[in-house]
Amino acid sequence: QKKKLIAGNWKMNGSLQANAALLQALRDGLGVPGCGVAVAVPAPYLAQVQALVAGSEIALAAQDVSQHERGAFTGEVSVSMLRDFGARYALVGHSERRQYHGETDAVVAAKAQRALSGGVTPIVCVGETLAEREAGQTETVVKRQLAAVIHAVGHCVSEIVVAYEPVWAIGTGRTATPEQAQQVHAVLRAQLAAATESADRVLILYGGSMNAANAAELLAQPDIDGGLVGGASLKAADFLKIIAAAH
Ligand code: 13P
Repeated sequence: QKKKLIAGNWKMNGSLQANAALLQALRDGLGVPGCGVAVAVPAPYLAQVQALVAGSEIALAAQDVSQHERGAFTGEVSVSMLRDFGARYALVGHSERRQYHGETDAVVAAKAQRALSGGVTPIVCVGETLAEREAGQTETVVKRQLAAVIHAVGHCVSEIVVAYEPVWAIGTGRTATPEQAQQVHAVLRAQLAAATESADRVLILYGGSMNAANAAELLAQPDIDGGLVGGASLKAADFLKIIAAAH
């Protein structure tokens, strides 16, 4: 049985003071987790949080990474910079990046490939909008999004992490039902299995209004290997309950 992963995505939240308080409370309450734990923090706080998680079971993640190695790309953060601060994971293709920053499937695939080749595990986010779900396009959309990444990373596909985040469930309090989520996770697993013999090893996380009350039933689904948690990851007590539900 592989270890699940619970990753918090702080999005554009936090401050030096708030981060210190949150990490202290997480460390105090964590014990020996039965799953992997990570926090994806805003880039300016990577150094601070690297120090705050040192010696703990909490891994550091970035929320994005540049598709470029280095150079004249103002505002971008490279994978080697993330590595300098001990980041183990980077989110790529979060729906907020796709929606508000114009990230295409090709850009997301290039970022995933860049992260992998730089030694950072990409957490590749896929998910349909409400309109796409209502039009019956859920499978088509998530398969198209994942296919671009599978194509770009080639034989390294077993090293990625996938996160299914239905856009209509993000920040809305409207979680996918365990059955709805499992159905899509199974589709993604099958797609991975067509590309690698190690598809069972790939972690497929669910994200979208996951909280302390609904985590256990989502995480009990056979193809749900963890969670990508937004709002509830900003409250130590809630995040710790979700971690406790994952084993
Ligand atoms: P919420 O948990 O706030 O719905 O956010 C989910 C998400 O987008 C995590 O990346």
